[in-house]
Amino acid sequence: MDGFLGSVIGTVVGDALGMGVEGWPAFLISATYGWLDHMVAGPQPLGAYTDDSEMMLGILETLVSKGDFDPEVCAQRFVANYHPSRGYGGRIAGIMQRLRRGDPWQQVGTDSFGNGSAMRIAPLGAFYFDDLKRLKEMARLSCLITHKHPEARAGAIAQATGVALALQAHCQGKPLAIDRFIGIIQDQIADQCPQFAQRLEALRHPPKGDRDSQRQALQRAYRCDVRSIEAVPPALGAFLWTSTPKQAIELAVNLGGDTDTLGAMAGALAGAYYGYSRLPSAWLETLENGPRGRDYILGQARLGAQRLIERLDQPGRGD
Ligand SMILES: [Mg+2]
Repeated sequence: MDGFLGSVIGTVVGDALGMGVEGWPAFLISATYGWLDHMVAGPQPLGAYTDDSEMMLGILETLVSKGDFDPEVCAQRFVANYHPSRGYGGRIAGIMQRLRRGDPWQQVGTDSFGNGSAMRIAPLGAFYFDDLKRLKEMARLSCLITHKHPEARAGAIAQATGVALALQAHCQGKPLAIDRFIGIIQDQIADQCPQFAQRLEALRHPPKGDRDSQRQALQRAYRCDVRSIEAVPPALGAFLWTSTPKQAIELAVNLGGDTDTLGAMAGALAGAYYGYSRLPSAWLETLENGPRGRDYILGQARLGAQRLIERLDQPGRGD
């Protein structure tokens, strides 16, 4: 399924594009690159992905091995995959340490309101795209492993629901209706964090004009930083206001701030909607391809898509 593959690989190319300018303000990106549209080296070598994709892989591998989401297995995958050099947030090291010494996954998370639970969630959104109620529960559990703040939870559910709706539209061959898309996400998160739902309102009004007007409008509305409530909405906007995966991911990254995560989230949404085959080939070719690089991730994504098809074929599903 092209949309499932797209949400996984879209995360990784968006992450790798944003990596080169991670933490840069937008004016510095403009001054250095004009409009950044190609991968550059940064804290990681050219084409390398960061913690966003490494943790996304943990969720994907859990779905592949279990045919369902299991937070305990996922927590172990996070530990097994953990390479601190991939640029993790400050509180992750302690969580990994507590998991490694055998603490239960329910007890290791912190009260962080960061975007770390949303940045990695693409495979869940794609896997439960047909069942938003179940998706919400699985997104909540996946978030709790590391993040216990309601804003982080709302961000994870919002991003997962966005990926699911994007994949639904992909499968139906339908254009996206922005108001409906935002309304469904707001309904999913209103009981978790009403102010997060309210914060999505600005996305209903795309600015007239070019990519610079879009960039300015998103920057005026959101800080685009590591806080989930400031990062998930502009990533959704970068997807909803553009009309190709290249435009969506570039707009997200050129917002500046937490660029790798903005790129990863916009890439997950755009990949699910437009499909893997529409991701820019120049980015795919630049992507790292070592033992856990592009070909490995693509292989896992194909297995994940197979698992999804098996789940959809089960009689009585969703009861
Ligand atoms: Mg990162």
